[in-house]
Order: sequence, then C-alpha cells, then structure tokens
Amino acid sequence: MPVALKMSQVYAPTLKEDPAEAEVASHRLLLRAGMVRKVAAGIYTFLPLAWRSIRKIEQVAREEMEAIGCQELMLPIVQPAELWQESGRWDLYGPELARLKDRAGRDFCLGPTHEEVITDTVRGEVRSYRDLPVSLFQINTKFRDEARPRFGLLRGREFIMKDAYSFHADADSLQEHYDAQARAYGAFCDRLGLDWRAVTADSGQIGGKVTTEFMALAENGEAALVYCDCGWAADVEAAESVVARHPSLREPGPLTRVHTPGIRTIAQLASFLGIAEHDTVKTMAAESPEGQLVFFLIPGDRELNPVKADRAVPGARLLDEDDFRRYGIPKGSLGPVAPPDGTLLVADRSLQDEVSWGVGANENDFHFVGAMPGRDFEVASWTDLVVAEEGDLCPECDGVLKVARGIEVGQVFQLGTRYSEAMHATFTAEDGSERPFLMGCYGIGITRALAAVIEQHSDEQGIVWPVSVAPLEVAVLPLAVDDDTVYPVAKGIWQALADDGIEVILDDRDDRAGVKFADADLIGWPVQVIVGRKAVSEGTVEVKVRETGERTQVPIAQAPLRVAEMIRSKRR
Ligand code: ATP
Ligand code: MG
Repeated sequence: MPVALKMSQVYAPTLKEDPAEAEVASHRLLLRAGMVRKVAAGIYTFLPLAWRSIRKIEQVAREEMEAIGCQELMLPIVQPAELWQESGRWDLYGPELARLKDRAGRDFCLGPTHEEVITDTVRGEVRSYRDLPVSLFQINTKFRDEARPRFGLLRGREFIMKDAYSFHADADSLQEHYDAQARAYGAFCDRLGLDWRAVTADSGQIGGKVTTEFMALAENGEAALVYCDCGWAADVEAAESVVARHPSLREPGPLTRVHTPGIRTIAQLASFLGIAEHDTVKTMAAESPEGQLVFFLIPGDRELNPVKADRAVPGARLLDEDDFRRYGIPKGSLGPVAPPDGTLLVADRSLQDEVSWGVGANENDFHFVGAMPGRDFEVASWTDLVVAEEGDLCPECDGVLKVARGIEVGQVFQLGTRYSEAMHATFTAEDGSERPFLMGCYGIGITRALAAVIEQHSDEQGIVWPVSVAPLEVAVLPLAVDDDTVYPVAKGIWQALADDGIEVILDDRDDRAGVKFADADLIGWPVQVIVGRKAVSEGTVEVKVRETGERTQVPIAQAPLRVAEMIRSKRR
C-alpha cells in the first residue's frame, strides 16, 4: 500500500512556542511537533505521527525477535493478584504496582511486567525437555505508578514495552538464547540509528546477576556509565576493574612528621606540602558490622565508591561525627601510620606502586610525608575502591575510558528459577526428574526508545529523524498551492514517490513558505522536496536533506528517482 498523505488531512497540531513543562529535547519536540499530548502525569496520547514512528519501532523489534525464533503473543494487562501472590511480588512490588478490585472485590493489578502471567501460561502445558526451549514476546502497554514520572516518554507511567520471556531445560540453552537476545537488542538499537553501549553487570560476583543494559548515550540520561572504544562499558556506580592511573612520581624517602596547622582537606594538604593531590592519600574511616574500625585508603584526588567499599568490607558504614568522637580520631587528619589498635587497612590497588604517601597522622594539625606501605604500615588488602572516572584505563584493553550519561532502552536478564520455583512451573528432564524451568526475560521500552532517538537526533529547528523511525520519509513542499505550475509539479513528484514505495507527505496547506519550512524541520522529515519559483523558471526543484542541511537543485523529471534512491540507501 503506497503511503501518500496530505498535510491538510494529518492531525499534527504543531506548537510555535516551547511548552514550559518540558525539560528535555524529546519531550519538548514531541509536544511541539504535534506528536503527543499529556493526559495525566506520565500518561500520554500518541497522535498520528508519533503512532506511525512507534509502529515502525515495534516492527523493528518484532523482526529482530522473529529472527531469533521468538514468537509473538499477547498477554492481558489486567492480572489476578493470585499469580503475584504465588511469586511473592504482590507484597514485594510496592506502590509502583497499580492495584484494583473487580466488582466482586477480587484483587487485580495492571501489569508492570509479565513474568507471572507468562509462567502461568506455559506451566502445565510445556511438560517435557523435548518441548524446550520456548521463547515468547509481546508488544503491549505497561503501567508502573512511577514515583517521579518525568521527561515525557522517557519515564512515563503508562508506556509501551516489548517484553520477551524464554524457558529452558539447562543453563547452556538459556545462555545461548540470552546471547541471541543481546545481539538482537544491538541490532534493534543500530536500526534505530542510536549511539548505544551495552553495559554488562559483572557476573563474576557471588550472587551476581547475569544482565546487560542497552544504553543510548544522552546528556539527559539518568544513568552514568564509563566506556571504552573497545566496546567495554559499565555503570559508573559499579564499574569494576577500572585501573586508576596514578603515576608514582617520587622516590621513597624517610617517614617525616610535618606540622600542618589548620589543614583539614586534601586540597589544603596538597598545596601546603607542594605536592599534587593525587600524591596524597585520602583516608575514609568506617566501621564493620562486627565493630571493627576500617580505614579505606584511596588516592587523594579520587572518590570512594560505596558499592566497592561494601564489596571489600560487607556492611561497612562510614563513621559519623559521634563515631569519630567515640574513637577519638580526627576526621581531617586520618592516616594508615599508627592507627588505633586493630584497625583494618584496605587500600585502593592503584596506590600499590606509590612508595611515598602524604597522609594524616591521626592527630589534628599533623601529617606524615614519605609514608611507605610495608615499611610504615601494613595494608590488609589491596582492592578496587574508587569511582571510575574519565581518563582511567579500560580493564579489558589499554584504552582510555570516557564517562557519559545514558538512557536505558532495553535490558536482558537471566532469571534462573526465580519464578518457576515459586510458581511450581516444572518440566520432566531427560533423566526423568521434575525440574523448574530456567528462565530469561528481555525488555525494550518502545516509547522510551522513540524519545531516546529524538534525544540523539535533534537540533535548534526540531527533530532530525533517522529514516528508519521517521513518521514518513519524504515531504514535498509546494511553496504556492494556487500556482498552476508549482502545485501540479509537486503533486506529480508526490505521486511518483508514493508509487515507488516511498512514504511521502504533500504539504498542500495554503500557508506561507516560512510556515512550511518551519513545520517541515520541526517534524523533521528526512528529505524535503521544495517546489518553488525555479520549477517555473528553470524546471528544477530543491532537494533538502534534513540531517546535513545539504540542498541540491534537481531537474523536475529526475527528482522522484533521485529522492527514492536517497531514501532507499538510508533505510535500515
Ligand atoms: P528504569 O531503571 O529506567 O526504571 P527498569 O530497569 O525498571 O527501568 P525494566 O523492568 O528493565 O525497566 O523494563 C524494560 C524496559 O522498559 C526498560 O529498559 C525501559 O526501556 C522501559 N521502561 C521501564 N520503565 C519505563 C518507564 N517508566 N517509562 C518508559 N519506559 C520504561
Ligand atoms: Mg531495566
């Protein structure tokens, strides 16, 4: 079916002014381009142009799922409490779960995710290892009563998700499908034109989860990540094995106690001693759950990562003012030399080759310089303690890490038997035993992905759609609809493009050229064919590429083919 629309017939109420409530580009532009309207906090109507883009994104997701043998079905949004009670999540989920009662007083909820329903769907039906694996997906509306719905479609309460669930007889099968899903998610992001990174949780940790988040890089992203050009990426909060660069500049020297009146901070200390902040060592005092005093030692210019500190000494809690008084140690002048008896010294491993430390003397107004591990104090363990930063080295290669913010577009997860055990979803294994399914779940935020594309593809004038997601691919703009050359030429090109399988819209409105240009750039049609005076005087039209701003004069007769080829080369 050719797609040939007319602007006069499309419901796309564009706005001239920036809406005050919109803080981020995607929210502002979706409102201004007449694509969405807010109904309530975090709840939106998708107007026709947005809906066209959403359907395209859904179709990309659908194709990628079908390519890996995942089948589409449709699960109910309204779900009985009993299933959630079985999994235990009726009590665990909290206020994000929207609960309701039917007329008989029975409890239900609006699905924020569908593990319970899908597990219920296959249990009792898939009985043998021979029937496995099974992988199913849906594209459906989700409801989560988010505490802070914001940024338009990026964090809604009602939103569209592609969610897939898989069932396996063994871990290898789960891993194989998980990898296939992850590859499909990468392909999905590529086809949407997203600049993305896969952030993999470190599954080496005990009790660690096997999961990967697909993050679209964006200033307004809620997550901070570090990444390397080699493809390695991690959440800043947990980024492991990041080798901090900590050049050891100085030779070993004698341990010298220095009077440092009034010096309480690293910056003061460094300038007082005339050394760099990274040549000082910051000591952070904590207490283990057993009541042992712990000193975390990190380079003076770095931040202690609480996740890593907790990993090093589980349950350790940084001291507060009262604790400092109780221990009788000075917060502003702590150090590893002669700490209180029984203090556990845990040091960032980047300090390992630093032989001459500037540290507090555990006495107000005094510090040591030339403190040397092994000689002046014993470190109990060297480990990774600091927050990863731009410029650190990649743990996988020698690349230099960058820090960026990201939007979580999708996530893949190995669930194991979390749901199948709780819900008694079992199959008969090859050896005849009855076992719970191994499960995986895989989610993509369809409407969040739409917003993420705009966050990455927009400018002062409006949206700059990648062809794969644009509501339509080409706009033809006749600059005078009452001119008896201009309008027929425009209509002819519009018709020819549609016949050639290009999605095209004709701006047939009787408006000034400026209005048409502004709307075309605001909505962001990837290619615009401008039919003006030169169509009459020189027999040419102007072909404008939205992304580059490049404009070419093309003879009328050649325009449809030239434009069609352009579009076909940009489809993904
Ligand atoms: P977040 O951490 O951003 O709240 P999540 O990790 O809770 O998301 P998942 O349960 O992994 O989300 O859901 C799968 C996908 O659904 C997410 O990767 C995201 O793209 C999308 N999604 C989740 N919550 C929302 C929301 N409130 N609005 C729009 N999309 C969402
Ligand atoms: Mg997630």
